[in-house]
Amino acid sequence: MPELPEIASRAGEMRKALSGRTIRDVELLQPKCLNKTPAGMKRALKGATLGDTAYHGKWLFTETTRGHLLINLGMGGDMLLVREDELPEKRQAVLFFDDGEALSIRFWWFGHVHHVPEGKLGTHRMSAKLGPNALDVTKSEFRELLRGRHGAAKSFLLNQERIAGIGNAYSHDILFLAGLHPERKLDTLSGDEVDGLWQAIRDGLLPALRKRGAWYERDLRGRRGGFRMDDILVGYKEGKPCPTCGAEIVKKRTGSTASFFCPRCQPLNPKKKAAAKRRAAPRARTRKPAAKKPAKKTTPKKDTRKPARKTARRRKR
Ligand SMILES: [Zn+2]
Repeated sequence: MPELPEIASRAGEMRKALSGRTIRDVELLQPKCLNKTPAGMKRALKGATLGDTAYHGKWLFTETTRGHLLINLGMGGDMLLVREDELPEKRQAVLFFDDGEALSIRFWWFGHVHHVPEGKLGTHRMSAKLGPNALDVTKSEFRELLRGRHGAAKSFLLNQERIAGIGNAYSHDILFLAGLHPERKLDTLSGDEVDGLWQAIRDGLLPALRKRGAWYERDLRGRRGGFRMDDILVGYKEGKPCPTCGAEIVKKRTGSTASFFCPRCQPLNPKKKAAAKRRAAPRARTRKPAAKKPAKKTTPKKDTRKPARKTARRRKR
């Protein structure tokens, strides 16, 4: 499923490639992905010139001279900008431009192509309730978002109405970077842990954004994203050693999704974490006699934050 790094990359590509192009015609092969009748959609979009594209959560918003074009790839899909005589066979919608190129839109499962008139974006129910984009939240705004919340850390990250753009794939490494168990309750977090989670969201998403998203998604020209399995720290790495402490990464069903985490670096009970750190200290000394510094007693901050952290998810296809 595309998440913030992929959607933000697509928005940037669309901004560059589509701004200024005029829609000559529209092909709509899957009426249920539309918010209007196919005829109404055609009327709305034919003759529209495209402007800037932005993203909010998993939605792409393209301004046009005739209202807003909204695209959501759902569980996954691709948008390919090709010559109109090279359209891929599998597609649900196509925008034909006046210069002979076309944007083909294909959903692997189900997605949305919507049109919203100018000034009416607030009435678009599916996007109006979204929380702020995960990378746009300041540290103090993030503290406010968490205030009074009792749920589990992972559920919070996945809830698009709280914070938008994080899905299951990137959540594993974000929680690992924050040193938090996926089921850790938000009301037990210390101030440092809250700030650490904010930082972990950035460290968990930015490396993938810089690489134009994960390898299992493609850009407008069909090129795969540069963020690979090797870039992932603990996500989808069940049985592999934790990159920080060497313990075996476990996979556990948490709510409606599976979670991958290090049971030692991300204990559910933070007191156990401190004890585990103390236990880990002599072990480190036996492996490396030179390391004389014993681990500090109860530093709540994790030392797992690497400059180059990563994530992605296993491709199903
Ligand atoms: Zn670990």
